[in-house]
Order: sequence, then C-alpha cells, then structure tokens
Amino acid sequence: MKEDPTVPSDARFETRAIHIGQDYRSETGAVIPPIYMTSTYETGNPGGFDYTRSGSPNYRNLQNTLASLENAQHCTVFASGVSAITAIAFGLKAGDTIVSEQNIYGCTYRLFERVLRKFNVEIEYVDLANPANYARIAEIKPALVWLESPTNPLLKILDISAIADVAHSVGATVVMDNTFASSLLQRPLDLGADLSLLSTTKYTNGHSDALGGAVCSNSAEWQEKMIFAQKALGLQPSPFDSWLTSRGVKTEALRMERHSANALELATRLEARADVKSVRYPFLPSNPQYELAKKQMSAGSGMLLADFGHTQEQALAFIRRLRLFTQAESLGGIESLVCHPATMTHASIPKDIREAAGVTDGLVRFSVGIEHVEDLWADIEQALKA
Ligand SMILES: *Cc1c(COP(=O)(O)O)cnc(C)c1O
Repeated sequence: MKEDPTVPSDARFETRAIHIGQDYRSETGAVIPPIYMTSTYETGNPGGFDYTRSGSPNYRNLQNTLASLENAQHCTVFASGVSAITAIAFGLKAGDTIVSEQNIYGCTYRLFERVLRKFNVEIEYVDLANPANYARIAEIKPALVWLESPTNPLLKILDISAIADVAHSVGATVVMDNTFASSLLQRPLDLGADLSLLSTTKYTNGHSDALGGAVCSNSAEWQEKMIFAQKALGLQPSPFDSWLTSRGVKTEALRMERHSANALELATRLEARADVKSVRYPFLPSNPQYELAKKQMSAGSGMLLADFGHTQEQALAFIRRLRLFTQAESLGGIESLVCHPATMTHASIPKDIREAAGVTDGLVRFSVGIEHVEDLWADIEQALKA
C-alpha cells in the first residue's frame, strides 16, 4: 500500500475509502482523478507506465484504496472476481492440492473442476463449518485452503482464524473469498488469511454497473504472482471499470450499514411468520453460528436466505410475484435482487452434489438493497399472500 501523506495514518475506514487512491490529479486540480483511456504510454514517463495490460493509474488508485480498506500491504485488481480466482489458481503447479470449503461460489467450483483438474491440480471439498473436519487439512497438507464466509448461498460461517492456524501448521496458503461480507464488515488478513479475494462487482462497487475483482495480501511473493497474472494471463480490468469501482467504494460504509440493517429487519420479520420454514441470516440471534459471526464480522451484510417450504415451481412463482426484488443473479448492489440458487447460481453443480451441500429446490436467496425497509417488507408480504 502506498503511504499518502495527506491522509492521517489513523484515519478510519469511511475516511480512507474517500481519500486514499486519489493520485494523478496534481497537474489539473481535478477533485476526482480522470479515467485514463489509453492503451499505451510514452516510454520513460515518470509514473513508469508502459502498456495498459500491465498497469494504469486507475488500477493503481483502486489498488491503493482496497489495500488500505483490507489492512493489506498489497492489492492487485482484475477484470472480474473469476479473473481474481484464476490468478490465484495459476499461482499453483501441477500436483498441488486444494482443500476447499464444499459450499463455494458456483463458478469457483466450475473453474476447479473443469479447468484446474486438466492441469493436474487435485481438489478435495470439505465442510469446514464443522471443526471435526479441520483434520483433513492436516492430513492432506494442501498447497491452498479455499474459504468463503459467509458462504454462497447457505450463509455458513467458517472460523477463519481457527482454520488458518491448522493450515499454517502444514504450510498451506489460506485464501478467503470476502465478497459476501465486504471489506467494511470483515478483514480476512487480520483474522489470519493470507489472501483476501473480492468480486468487486458486488458490494465494493455496489451499483451493479461494473465487473471487477481484487486480491489483497501481505505477501510479497503472492503479490508478485498476482501482478504477473494480471499482465501475463490478460486478466486486467478496464480503466473505466476501475474508475467506476473507485467511485462506488467511496460509499461502501454507508451502503453496508443500510444493507445490514435492512436485511436484519427482514430476517427478523420473516422468522416470526408461521408460513416460513427457515430463515438464515448471520446476525439472527437464533442462528447457531451467531456468536462466531459476531466475532468475525461487524454486521451481518445484505444476504438473506429463506425456505418457505415451497416446491421448485412454487418458489419460482413467489419470485415472479415480487416487484421491488428483481429476479437476477449477482448481489451487493443498491437495488434488491432475488435468486433461486438451485436453478440459477448453482445450476452448474450436479443435483446430487448440490443437494448434499444443502442447496435444495425451496431455497430463495435475497440480496437486500438499500431501499426503504417498509417498502421491501410490503413487497414480500404481497408476494407471500397470493
Ligand atoms: C460473484 C462472485 C464471484 C465472481 O465474481 P465475478 O465478478 O462475477 O467474476 C466470486 N465469489 C463470490 C462469492 C461471488 O459472489
């Protein structure tokens, strides 16, 4: 992370989100840095830029901001969250093994199964919410341990520091996908992870108008691999998307507070209804993992999972009746979205594996936006009434 002499070193998250990563303005006095829409740079320039695939002022600004927000020394940005996952995966070599939480993002699973296996990387999936299974990490001695917390879509919470202790005892690198929690609510590196991965498409940018990914770490060795992957694998973002994400992240703290407050309120009201079979939200006191969630996260974020005891057909009909919740994949934007994991985000996982992991046909996943909570509740009530 680049030190910025104009920002006090003890400035808080909200202040750093706005003031760190504002370079390349001095010649003009522009309050906001411009978008550098250029493919190449004149040799010998003071910033050391050469070609946009290997660097842009817009990447550097965003990298400095995100490194600061994740309490990391380094950050590299990519074209998408999946590009960030690819960058880490290609840091491995044939013969390496990954121990992965079993309930991971569907496209991470697809990349592991359909791409990494071709290069002779072994992957073993384990339920890492159960401490009895930590022993597998010690037995397998993998190169990498892949975590997500809260998980998608079951919102399981993994004990990051406990797992990191076991992984480090056998020399494994710990990757934590922090997309669902966000940099405001959870700092994986402070909890013991070696790499914190973000799909900045979600809460970091927060406005559903740009894709992006980032990997943050305190490891010079991994940072070198990430910078190499950015340019050598062609995983770089566009300067425009980086600029949009730099704009979006400035309001991350305000947004996350509202996402979390709205989601907690909806979860509480849903749980009180007799026609709701189960509700999963990290910060519901009835959640068996509530204490662990509170230990790792400062609020519950905006993702909420409900089972109305519906069949697949009934669940899809309920989703169609919602008006303010748009049926769509993705999450983390200001607008509320709703998704049917079994037929949407997790459709690429074979049914038996999906159901064994708990992703059943009746589950409905809400990405609760920052609209007024009473409007959101009225929408859910009318859709349930029909
Ligand atoms: C969306 C998502 C990704 C992938 O990010 P893209 O920007 O869509 O490529 C990875 N992990 C999680 C948890 C996600 O939600």
